[in-house]
Amino acid sequence: MDLGISGKRALVCASSKGLGRGCAEALAEAGVHLVMNARDGAVLDAVAESIRERYGVRVDTVAADITDPEGRMRVLDVATQVDILVTNAGGPPPGMWSDWDRDDFIRALDANMLTPVALMKAILPGMINRSWGRVVNITSASVRSPIPMLGLSNAARMGLTGYVAGTARQVAGAGVAINNLLPGIHATDRADSLDQTAAKNQKLSLKEARELRKSTIPARRYGTAAEFGATCAFMCSQYAGYMVGQNVMLDGGSANISV
Ligand code: NAP
Repeated sequence: MDLGISGKRALVCASSKGLGRGCAEALAEAGVHLVMNARDGAVLDAVAESIRERYGVRVDTVAADITDPEGRMRVLDVATQVDILVTNAGGPPPGMWSDWDRDDFIRALDANMLTPVALMKAILPGMINRSWGRVVNITSASVRSPIPMLGLSNAARMGLTGYVAGTARQVAGAGVAINNLLPGIHATDRADSLDQTAAKNQKLSLKEARELRKSTIPARRYGTAAEFGATCAFMCSQYAGYMVGQNVMLDGGSANISV
């Protein structure tokens, strides 16, 4: 399917691995030129080169911490005139409700709420001026189905969801569609680290912890970064302009929500 976005330009944050990389690859396959970002420049540059070779699109890279104002500024200096913004960053650590103090919450809010807000504030005016834009925020299934061990993530991502609910409706009339993409468990480094924590807490092997988690997912497997990326690319396509302020779940049916 031709997504109708060939030649457009996207900033995909935190995209050298996992779900961000899945989104970058799917957009490149649709002919979109990329600005990619991650902290480890060597890994980022290697991935960028493989995307250039495979899809023939232009890929600029910025090695920076997207949650840090100075790093974000360096990304935005390169990511001028972007038509598509995919926000992403690492998720906060798991824990118990009693573990976290104010600084932990501020870190989580900075990374998973205020960073995407800052990116949207910087990039939306250009999209509005050009009467076309797409924003996809990678959040989490925990927004609709909170995960007990991820209180920091639940809190920060719900804050972002509230901001997007209003903002998406304020900019939709200018041809800019903002939506959130909510991953349930996907086979990435992040899932490995959550499985390692679960294995330790439940005194299981990593394999046992993974099988246990899979057994709770109606699809009986983890999602893939390629599936996630393809959904993101559709949400950035010409055909998704009437999708506004939505929270799209990709969780293999895990959340028992009927509407
Ligand atoms: P991942 O496999 O660990 O990949 C994270 C990517 O983001 C890497 O490219 C990493 O590269 C980059 N990154 C991390 N922190 C960054 C920062 N501060 N600035 C710039 N780049 C950064 O993670 P993932 O599974 O794709 O998860 C992506 C997001 O989805 C996370 O917020 C996660 O909590 C959320 N999520 C994931 C799942 C899942 O099952 N995978 C489920 C629900 C929610 P560098 O380390 O080099 O920076």
